Amino acid sequence: MRNKTFKNSMLSAIAGHCLLAVAIASGQSASADQGQDQELQMGQEVFNDLKAKGEIIESSPLYDQLRPLADAITRVAQPRYNHPFKFYLVHETQPNAFATPGGNVYVVDSLLYFVKNTEELTGTLCHEVAHTIHHDTVTLMEKQERLRRREVGAAVLLGPTRAHILAIALIGKLHSLSYSRDVESRADLTGSDICASAKYNPWGLVWLFQDFQNARPSELPQLLSDHPDDQHRVDALKKHFRESPSAFAEFSSDPMSAKPFSAPRNAPEAFMH
Ligand SMILES: [Zn+2]
Repeated sequence: MRNKTFKNSMLSAIAGHCLLAVAIASGQSASADQGQDQELQMGQEVFNDLKAKGEIIESSPLYDQLRPLADAITRVAQPRYNHPFKFYLVHETQPNAFATPGGNVYVVDSLLYFVKNTEELTGTLCHEVAHTIHHDTVTLMEKQERLRRREVGAAVLLGPTRAHILAIALIGKLHSLSYSRDVESRADLTGSDICASAKYNPWGLVWLFQDFQNARPSELPQLLSDHPDDQHRVDALKKHFRESPSAFAEFSSDPMSAKPFSAPRNAPEAFMH
């Protein structure tokens, strides 16, 4: 507390860009200690918001399709993240999946009807889990928040209030997070490692990109960010597979080898409230 007061008085004593530099430096050292808690809090606030909007599905036969895949991915991914991964089905119109800091992964029910096979679905889930492991969302939100504060010239807040501000920003952008191509590609590669370790063919992600390339623009969902048709990402995945034959050689690149996935039509859904 004493230290924080000292920091605050230091901050108010210094003006302009210098202030910002000091504020960011102390913000970063604080998040080194509180980073995980900040991620948990952000995730909880997004959860509360989705729940309040009546989007989170509490029970549905669709969970019977999702759970075995989510469990297998979690077994492989969990050692790489400090909070438990939890998968929730949500009801939205656009097929999508998104992960928030803190370990929650949201799978839109229509995605279960959109994917052509198990591997496309697991590829998407592994990609989202990789964003969480890389702390991509919190990094992006922090960056955008720093830019915003630079514009208004405000000092950076520390502690829970900061997590709250980042959570509000995240809720506003949940469906339009724009990561850089490199951040997306990195999530693809880590995701493919996770899928391969969980014994799901990581070529599923490549097949999904190819489906996107063949789809009409009007049919494209906002899935896997704004760069779904990016050949660079497919090339990076293929290179990654070639470079680690011990991990990837056992998997076929042929979509005809895919495991069919079928979700029960018109499955009933009960919502959390
Ligand atoms: Zn992504």
